[in-house]
Order: sequence, then structure tokens, then C-alpha cells
Amino acid sequence: MKIAVLPGDGIGQEIVKEAVRVMEAFRSEGYPIEFEFASIGGKAFDEAGDPLPDSTLKLARDAQAILLGAVGGVQYDSLPRPKRPEQGLLRLRKELALFANLRPALLYPELVSASTLKPEIVANLDIMIVRELTGDIYFGQPRGIRVNPAGEREGFNTMVYSEPEVRRVAHTAFKIAMKRKCKLCSVDKMNVLETTELWRETMIEVSKEYPEVSLTHMYVDNAAMQLVRNPKQFDVIVTGNMFGDILSDEASMLTGSIGMLPSASLDAQGKGLYEPIHGSAPDIAGKNIANPLATILSLAMMMRYTFAEERLAGRIEHAVRQVLGKGLRTSDIFESGATLVSTSQMGDAVVAAL
Ligand code: NAD
Repeated sequence: MKIAVLPGDGIGQEIVKEAVRVMEAFRSEGYPIEFEFASIGGKAFDEAGDPLPDSTLKLARDAQAILLGAVGGVQYDSLPRPKRPEQGLLRLRKELALFANLRPALLYPELVSASTLKPEIVANLDIMIVRELTGDIYFGQPRGIRVNPAGEREGFNTMVYSEPEVRRVAHTAFKIAMKRKCKLCSVDKMNVLETTELWRETMIEVSKEYPEVSLTHMYVDNAAMQLVRNPKQFDVIVTGNMFGDILSDEASMLTGSIGMLPSASLDAQGKGLYEPIHGSAPDIAGKNIANPLATILSLAMMMRYTFAEERLAGRIEHAVRQVLGKGLRTSDIFESGATLVSTSQMGDAVVAAL
């Protein structure tokens, strides 16, 4: 297992360190895990004048999987756009053709009070959102702001999906559904958008190759409503880039704890970039108080989706549950009666539970 480790900026350095300890624990058991570090984001800009230096890109290309912390910081916000930390990450996703973004929304029973929704609505919630990441209206051409014949300024974008683009993300989603409860809900707006009419037709066509999976369809406005009304009806959701952007943020907030949620971005061969959904949290960086669990759970996703090591994925997830069950909490998920721990103490506890 060849892994590139890119801690990035802010708390990225602290949280990735704890996930690396989990990798080391597996390695000491004899698992063939190799990893190498490189800089990305603001740190890479400081060192090499580029948020994605060639050496980092090469390391990422040569690896089978990438573990990333987070990028960004206020000191970089005034840089020209191509030099900003976020551009390094966007370029990395593009260069590696990572078109399927997997965002689980999973609520551990121990953290049910972190959600703003009623416990009976969200307890044991376990949804996976598969968002197409490289197409749709965010990338479609033509786009711009122009003056129309009436002399008024108007903005325009193009929502476009080719059949192969839909087909490849459909295959990813069906395969994931096969590893879960075999229920896939495709979200579109085919009553008004032709792009999503093609999306739906393609989903139905691909579904013939996965007879075990039950495929349903939902309009995006209804899906946004159902996610807060009765989120447990969903197992896997697949949708386009823009709808997925919105729905995955909505779904993550059902769990209430940004420091707990991992993500993966995959290519067609299962190579992946694994990272927590949160950012570099400059407000708490360097204080050893950030929650490392989203990053450690990103490693669990890596074991499952890139390396098909379901047992190692399960062991990490089980260790996290055990630690939460013992009442250990970093400050972001702290509640009265729990034991407050630092980033490194949380890492200690997970490694011990493994
Ligand atoms: P953020 O996710 O970094 O932080 C939002 C809030 O959540 C902060 O109060 C922070 O302290 C808290 N938080 C986040 N992760 C936490 C953790 N693991 N443990 C405890 N608390 C945690 O979002 P932001 O403040 O909007 O952005 C900060 C920087 O991160 C910006 O430069 C932004 O561009 C960047 N960013 C990067 C990514 C990424 O690398 N993928 C994603 C989002 C934002």
C-alpha cells in the first residue's frame, strides 16, 4: 500500500500526525504500508512558491492513495488566485481525474446530541453521498458575464454532462451501494433540466448491470427536504456536482460535528484522495485541541475503497466507536460528563483501542 501523505496547513499538520500513527500501528503488525510526506497548500507556497509543486504532484501520481489534512490560511488570502492554497488542492483533484466524491454522513449514537435535529430522526444515521466532482455547471462552457442585445448585463453558465461522465460516476455509486444496503437514490431535476434527463436515463441503463441494487429517483428539491424530514430512508445518494455540493453539506450537518466527517475522491481505478471535510481551522491551529477523528476515519475509507482492506477499515471504525464509548471527547464534540482530551491524547486512545 503506497500512500502519499500531504498534511497541508493549520491543524492539517496535527491531525494527520495522529492518522499516521494508525498507519504505523498496522505496519508494525506486518501490513505492507509505505508512506512518504510532501507539502501542499500554503506550506508548499512558502517553501517552493507553488501550492502544488511538481515533486508533490509526482509523489501523488506514483502513490495508490493520498492522505490529506487541509489547506488554507488568512495569510494567503491576498495572493494571486493561482498561488492560493485551495488552487493546489483543486489542481491535484483535476490532475488525478478524481471524479467521484464520497461523503458519508454517519452519526455515532454517542454523539447524537451534537445534531440540531431530534435524536429519533438522526440516531444511527448512515448515509453515503456520491457527488460527481469534475463536470456540470461548475465547469461547463460557455460561461461568463456579457451584455445582451437590450444592453443589460447578464451572467450565464452551462449545465452539461456527457453520457460517459454520468456512466462512470454511476458505476462508482452502484459499486458502493453493493458494499452497503444495496439501495441507491439518484437525485436530479429531470422535470425541468434536459441535462438531468440524460442523467436519469443513463442511471437506469447502468442499473441493469447491478440487479441486486434497488435504484430510485428523486428531484433535488424533494431530496433537500427529505434529508431533514426522514434522512434514514437513504442509503447511498448519487448526484451531479452542484446538487451534490449543496446536499452533501446539508447531510454533513445532520451529524452536527465537522471534526468527525471523512471524505474520499476517487478515480475510475479506485485511486483516491482521502481527507476530512473540514478546513485548516486557523483559529485553533497549533494548540493540540483539534479533533483528529475525521482524518483517522478518512484512513478507514482509504483501506476500504482503495485497498479493499475491509477488516482494517472496520478495525479503525470500531476503535473510534470504542473511544467515544469511553466518553473521550475533543473540545468540538465535548459535552458535560465527558472527558476532555487533546488531539494527541485522542490519537493515543485510538491506537490503544486498535
Ligand atoms: P474550517 O473547517 O477550517 O473551520 C470551521 C470551524 O470549525 C472553525 O471554528 C474550526 O475551529 C472548526 N473545526 C474545523 N475542523 C475542526 C476539527 N478537526 N476539530 C475541531 N474543530 C474544527 O473552515 P473555515 O474556517 O471556513 O476555513 C479555514 C481555512 O480552511 C480557509 O483558508 C479555507 O479556505 C480552508 N478550507 C480548506 C478546506 C480543505 O482543505 N479541503 C476545506 C474548507 C476550508
